[in-house]
Amino acid sequence: MGHASRHTQGNRNRMSASDDDKQATRIVTAGRRPEWTQGIVNPPVWRASTILYDSVGDLRAAGGRDSHHRLFYGRRGTPTQWSLADALTELEPGAEATLLYPSGVAAVSSALLSVLSPGDELLLADSVYDPTRGFADQFLKRFGVTTTYYDPMIGEGIASLVTDRTRAVFLESPGSLTFEVQDIPAILGVARDKGLVTLMDNTWATPLLFPAIAAGVDYSILACTKYVVGHSDVMLGSVTAAKGKYAELRKGAYHLGQTASPDDAWLGARGLRTMDVRLRAQGHAAMHIAQWLDRRPEVARVLHPGLPSCPGHEFFVRDFKGSSGLFSIVLNGGGERERAALIDGLRLFGIGFSWGGYESLALPVDPQKIRTVVPWEAEGPVVRLQIGLEDPDDLIADLDAGLMRFREALA
Ligand SMILES: *Cc1c(COP(=O)(O)O)cnc(C)c1O
Repeated sequence: MGHASRHTQGNRNRMSASDDDKQATRIVTAGRRPEWTQGIVNPPVWRASTILYDSVGDLRAAGGRDSHHRLFYGRRGTPTQWSLADALTELEPGAEATLLYPSGVAAVSSALLSVLSPGDELLLADSVYDPTRGFADQFLKRFGVTTTYYDPMIGEGIASLVTDRTRAVFLESPGSLTFEVQDIPAILGVARDKGLVTLMDNTWATPLLFPAIAAGVDYSILACTKYVVGHSDVMLGSVTAAKGKYAELRKGAYHLGQTASPDDAWLGARGLRTMDVRLRAQGHAAMHIAQWLDRRPEVARVLHPGLPSCPGHEFFVRDFKGSSGLFSIVLNGGGERERAALIDGLRLFGIGFSWGGYESLALPVDPQKIRTVVPWEAEGPVVRLQIGLEDPDDLIADLDAGLMRFREALA
């Protein structure tokens, strides 16, 4: 016979968190409660649908009490998911709690559905991840929620877009594909004045480089598929809520039946422990490679928040602790054929979607097909680069040969 209360017994160990710990320390200790690890370093995989109770009375009591961090039914999680969720909460100073989702898109859509009602209007950055646009334009629209897109460089000018129907602002900074950095404090200031809910897709920076909740965001969203998992082998998402904002999020997730598998959460937690060193190495290499690309005549522009030429670079320097490993380049002339000549022959860069893993990727991207408020105009096609953990000199040699192929294709 199983006992729902048994997980609270366990071997104590000395690992414990302090609020003063630096982030690199916190990422090691976070979420590893002794009652969940029972002395094992990594909280094990607790798989469950059914939880068994000692009696009808016990079962009834479980239904009535707050099930946060208590075994109740598999959909509400087990210590494996709670451990990763808690770890993500601990990385966001000022946060109340975190929920996991089966993908980043599920996290985005569930968070929005948790706060929006028919008749509401949503303000969405024009540089937002394209599937987030798709969800707003097609799904939310069917349920009577309208969306107005804003120029990511709008800053406090966003006040002019707020109507009495506006309910929420959704930020993503830097923007997907083109990396414009928003004046986040200015936008959050307007949202606070007008009583709007704020959500931010923080996948690029993660809480390590931009603690979104401390900045005043209500819901900080991660596609954990990217840097948290870090190994290109799991789909996972999370939403971390600011104090007082969790109950609404949890209600939405319960109604939608959102739950992440314990096995995937376990892999996410495993990836999280090395996220700080991976982000540092990948961010450093990406900056180095971006600077090298910036000096190349085949490259018209490098779209990297750490370069002064990036729109919003001044906000990046002011608000972010560093840069991660994803950026884009605008080629100097050419089209689909010339861009393919560059990408197709790359030896170390894989061609594929997603990013945040340990291996480098190159992807042709077309912002002009997506943007509606600020038409995308550029000197040539765009290539998005995800820099992995390979030696940067080898990656530069690979890109060097690619740029040569591009030049030959242009001629
Ligand atoms: C990949 C991505 C997502 C979606 O995450 P999935 O896990 O692939 O569903 C959301 N936002 C951004 C910025 C992303 O890059």
